[in-house]
Amino acid sequence: MIKTPKLEHRQLTEHVIQIGDSVGNACTLVIGEEHSLLFDTMTGTCDLKQYVKEITDLPLTVVLSHGHFDHSYGSWQFGEVYLNAQERQVYEKSQTLLPEIVQNTKAVLPEQLRNGSFDLIFHDLKEGDLFPLGSITAEAVSLPGHTRGSIGLLLREERTLLVGDAVSPQMTLLFEESLPVSTYLETLSKSADLPADRIIGSHFMKAFPVSAIGIFEDCARSIGKVRRMKYAFSPVPEYKGTLWLYEIHNPLIDETICIITK
Ligand SMILES: [Zn+2]
Repeated sequence: MIKTPKLEHRQLTEHVIQIGDSVGNACTLVIGEEHSLLFDTMTGTCDLKQYVKEITDLPLTVVLSHGHFDHSYGSWQFGEVYLNAQERQVYEKSQTLLPEIVQNTKAVLPEQLRNGSFDLIFHDLKEGDLFPLGSITAEAVSLPGHTRGSIGLLLREERTLLVGDAVSPQMTLLFEESLPVSTYLETLSKSADLPADRIIGSHFMKAFPVSAIGIFEDCARSIGKVRRMKYAFSPVPEYKGTLWLYEIHNPLIDETICIITK
């Protein structure tokens, strides 16, 4: 079966629109009065640029949460992106895995992405970087754990934190580039202390209340004490690890709560 993901979007707050495909990837469009910002770009198999253009014709800045393919491969359409310098290696490693990922996900890639025939300029992204969009500003926040250089965006005016994969009900610390659980716990604690009421990740079409972070902390601390199962990351099955199942269904956020370690 060939998967050709279709895009859809949903308004989550006054300035935030979540765009998702039909295979579980998402990205976030923040629209100010003068400028717009796209946080993450999904897998690059859809015409995301045109889709965004139909929502807003404001000038657009593209910011990536981290280098994994399901966040960064759509970047080829945009010419330039902001990415933490530590994530360049992750992005480049993802490119070497591309043939395998394509085979395992049955993705249909545009020619430019398949051949690498596109120009992409990377700007470094660091904690404290500000992106003023009008009455709302996005502020970069370092959220290490899932990867070393994972970055979130804080929208202070809307008390919203965009987290990419850095804070998640199904947390993956499986990769070579993932840091220890203790680092993830520090990131959870930092996120909970930020002036935000909600978090929005890059695999969900909804926001979670910030109180969910306490559940994620409990999950991370349950390693070794809850049911475990073997786990293989389906796009790259040689990435194997252990899934620790904390809660099959959490009624507050309507999600399974688990953590996957190396
Ligand atoms: Zn990731």
